Amino acid sequence: MTHREMHPQRWGDPAHATPLPDSSKELVDLIFGANDTPGAASVEVPASQLAPELLDSLAALFASPDQVLADDETRRLRTRGKSTPDLLKARVGDLSDAPDVVVRPTTHEEVAAVVAWAAEHRVAVVPFGGGTAVTGGLVAARDGFAGVVSLDLADMDRLLSVDPVAMTATFQPGVRGPAAEELLAAHGLRLGHHPQSFEFATIGGFAATRSSGQNSAGFGRFDQMVVALKVATPIGDLEVGSSPLNAAGPDIRQIVLGSEGTLGVITEVTVRVRAVATETRYEAWQFESFAAGQAAMRHLAQRQLLPTIIRLSDEAETAINLASQTDVGGEALTGCLMIVGHEGDRIAPQVARVAEELTALGGTALGEDRGQSWVEGRFHAPYLRDSLLDVGVLVETLETATFWSNTERLHGAVKTALESSLGEGTVVLCHVSHVYETGCSLYFTVAAKQGDDPLSRWLAAKAAACDAMMDCGATITHHHAVGTDHKAWLAREIGPVGVAMLKGLKASVDPAGVLNPGVLIP
Ligand SMILES: Cc1cc2nc3c(=O)[nH]c(=O)nc-3n(C[C@H](O)[C@H](O)[C@H](O)COP(=O)(O)OP(=O)(O)OC[C@H]3O[C@@H](n4cnc5c(N)ncnc54)[C@H](O)[C@@H]3O)c2cc1C
Repeated sequence: MTHREMHPQRWGDPAHATPLPDSSKELVDLIFGANDTPGAASVEVPASQLAPELLDSLAALFASPDQVLADDETRRLRTRGKSTPDLLKARVGDLSDAPDVVVRPTTHEEVAAVVAWAAEHRVAVVPFGGGTAVTGGLVAARDGFAGVVSLDLADMDRLLSVDPVAMTATFQPGVRGPAAEELLAAHGLRLGHHPQSFEFATIGGFAATRSSGQNSAGFGRFDQMVVALKVATPIGDLEVGSSPLNAAGPDIRQIVLGSEGTLGVITEVTVRVRAVATETRYEAWQFESFAAGQAAMRHLAQRQLLPTIIRLSDEAETAINLASQTDVGGEALTGCLMIVGHEGDRIAPQVARVAEELTALGGTALGEDRGQSWVEGRFHAPYLRDSLLDVGVLVETLETATFWSNTERLHGAVKTALESSLGEGTVVLCHVSHVYETGCSLYFTVAAKQGDDPLSRWLAAKAAACDAMMDCGATITHHHAVGTDHKAWLAREIGPVGVAMLKGLKASVDPAGVLNPGVLIP
């Protein structure tokens, strides 16, 4: 089977690249003093380290030789994920994390056979979904292992069953976001999980990272959608989820969710699904300040009035939004822009009630144009990151979450940490991306000068921001997961007992430690 591949050094589909308009280039130059960066370095993939006899025994597990690929191009395309550090490394031709071989199973049995083989021969296995990881979850430690296998789940891309009575659907893990929606639409159903990486990220990846989508206010996070899982581990198969919820001890599903390939390979995911929406409405609202907008969000969440989508930009992000939305007319937008989306059946009463509450809390309705424009452009922003990197701007995003009583402190602390680390000319934008009764997630976008060593500059800034999150008592990640990048801060967040519990789990199901070594577990 052939799948649309992402560009090896950029985000997404090469056909959708979004070059910066000349006018924006001038603005960028003015703010960041940026310059075009040199083109990508020529690429040499390190030679495969897997011994020929191991490669032969691995190939023997598969029905077809096409399922075992050791060519340079395939290995290059399965190297790391799509964080800015990943892109910066790829741009300078650093492929030191390339796997030795890529395998493409089509069944649970083939996955289980690879996992058992890996444990026997002490070969590291990296489950690979869409390859959209942004926290180093696809970079396995090599030391002490006979090699690294990328377990590419792209060919496990079927909808296995639908239960229209319980409203559940069971997928293989390699189904990407758009395909999941298309497969369900044939049954009049939808999943409603739309992270910004929707185009390429997979069902298995959503489960393994506890992803959150833009519709999470209405649909819940991905971990709230999952009802059952099948997992291949080195000590055997795990199948969990025989009822919607239970009191049968700790919820093992929730232990697998977010385990980032370190406890097993997820081969089937059963999710709760809903009927397709017959009506949608996307609106923009304006609030005087970030605090006023947050108070309105909190009010809706605490009265169970949340729409399907709700997000709020701070003043800086609102100003930038305006720059990219001159097509919707309107004079300079001050204050903070809120996007509110309603999706469902007979939504009019909910639309009216939410509008009434937002107006009473100081919101000004801006109509549907900006809301519609946001929906249409919501998957484009990552393409812009590459265009900015091209002209010498360092751009990256990071996210965290906290309780409502702590958001102002957290917002200020992370912003200050990034600005102090990256210096003059740094721009920090923020929005509230996900909302709960007790708190919310803050999502930051940072733009700064690349300087001579952009990677080191970013790693220092990111460390400062992560320290600020911990100092504020917030989480190290609301939805990007831990990977290798957040491990040190995870240890701080969950403490020594939490770390011991994770280590104990890992030792019990993966005694040889071959599943994604170095990822997640501090
Ligand atoms: C531009 C961009 C925007 C993003 N926006 C969002 C967003 O809005 N919300 C959000 O939550 N995240 C977002 N992310 C992060 C990322 O898309 C998510 O973490 C996503 O869930 C990863 O899915 P994937 O299929 O690409 O997994 P991969 O990147 O392939 O893998 C992620 C991790 O899960 C493991 N894994 C993958 N599949 C399996 C499996 N079947 N069994 C066991 N382990 C597995 C991998 O080994 C790795 O550790 C974004 C990333 C990018 C680059």
